[in-house]
Amino acid sequence: MKNFDAEKLKKDFPILHKKSDLYRFIYLDNAATTQKPKFVIDFIKNFYERYNANVYRSIHDLGEEVTTLYEDARAKIAKFINADTQEVIFTSGTTESINFVADAWLAENLKKDNEIVITQAEHHANFLPWLRLAQKKDSKIKFIDLNLDTFSFNNFDPDTSDLINENTKLVAIIHSSNVLGDIWDKQEQQLKKLIEKAHKVGAKVLLDCAQTISRKKIDVKDLDVDFIAFSGHKMIGPTGIGVLFIKKEMHEVVEPYRVGGSMVSFVAWNSASWRKAPNKYEAGTPPIAQAIGLGKAIDYLNQYIDFGQLKIHEAKLCSYLIDGLQKIKEVKIIGNIERLKTEGHLVCFVVDGIHAHDVSAFLSKDGISVRSGNHCAQPLTELLGIDSSVRVSFYLYNTMRDVDIFLESLEKVINFFKK
Ligand code: PLP
Repeated sequence: MKNFDAEKLKKDFPILHKKSDLYRFIYLDNAATTQKPKFVIDFIKNFYERYNANVYRSIHDLGEEVTTLYEDARAKIAKFINADTQEVIFTSGTTESINFVADAWLAENLKKDNEIVITQAEHHANFLPWLRLAQKKDSKIKFIDLNLDTFSFNNFDPDTSDLINENTKLVAIIHSSNVLGDIWDKQEQQLKKLIEKAHKVGAKVLLDCAQTISRKKIDVKDLDVDFIAFSGHKMIGPTGIGVLFIKKEMHEVVEPYRVGGSMVSFVAWNSASWRKAPNKYEAGTPPIAQAIGLGKAIDYLNQYIDFGQLKIHEAKLCSYLIDGLQKIKEVKIIGNIERLKTEGHLVCFVVDGIHAHDVSAFLSKDGISVRSGNHCAQPLTELLGIDSSVRVSFYLYNTMRDVDIFLESLEKVINFFKK
């Protein structure tokens, strides 16, 4: 068992120790992006100094070497989510992965009056591709309603609800919310029932794992999901790299998202055929350093992080933060407080009389980074009856001391505005 020691882990992340422009740097915006360990940063530098070449094309030694590194990274990611190697497709991030499924598969299959089921808690990345497509095809989007008392979908029983039915082509849902944290009832039970129901009526399921990939064991075989999407930068990896898992059985029916170099098996003047997955889904030069860098991030997580312990650590931070926030009368926490205290990785709140952006800007002047706004979930924000909120989100290197400093600074901000 790896011992969890956030103070020790923090030492591996150089940016968290920068002191040049501010007297301190407390990073609490991990749901937006996570910081990178020196191990990953050094690798990226080393890559360009030692290994840089294109993949799949060149027969020279460096070309072969870099292709092996790139494929090794794919294999590591496949193992991390219990997929087969050819089921892991590199993209630029969650957003591209979801647009990929919308354009390359669903656009080809969606008919008038077909339905796409999503939840009321989606990030725009898992809403707008479906909205645009549904409008083009004259099809419908249906929503799994959020229970505003529990901030979860516990009113939705996939077995008895007819929301998912013979007209449903795709169920595309968030795995954990970037505003509310965990939202599925009894962990994965409700989700598994939902996936089973979707398959029973002939629909496919996409899971937006952007907020969970860095903290929850995802087993695509156990979930029996058809697509999952996630971003490298939210799991201590580089930006510009993401993953789309496409279940093997779908490879015949999911078309390439882009066409071009490296993905073809044969091209003539008037015809072309594609290589098998994953190559047919990766046209052009891929983000090579980033993909291999993501493999390194996974090495780091595998070596140092036990997800069970991480969950306890993040929940403790949330609990401590919530206890502090509840002592401030101007603060209203958004979400299921009990659940956030036991399973959370983030806490959103509003401050009476002070706009979230003002809170964030003033905290930043005090060396503290948090997110403010609608968190790319405008319909959800509206449903919650607010126009914006402040979000504190944790990761493996955050400590109770970070929370103490944050709470102290927040009180200063509130006192300043009250004057
Ligand atoms: N889905 C969720 C739940 C997210 O939190 C985010 C990013 O915040 C995304 C999708 C989009 O991720 P990216 O911007 O890396 O494509």
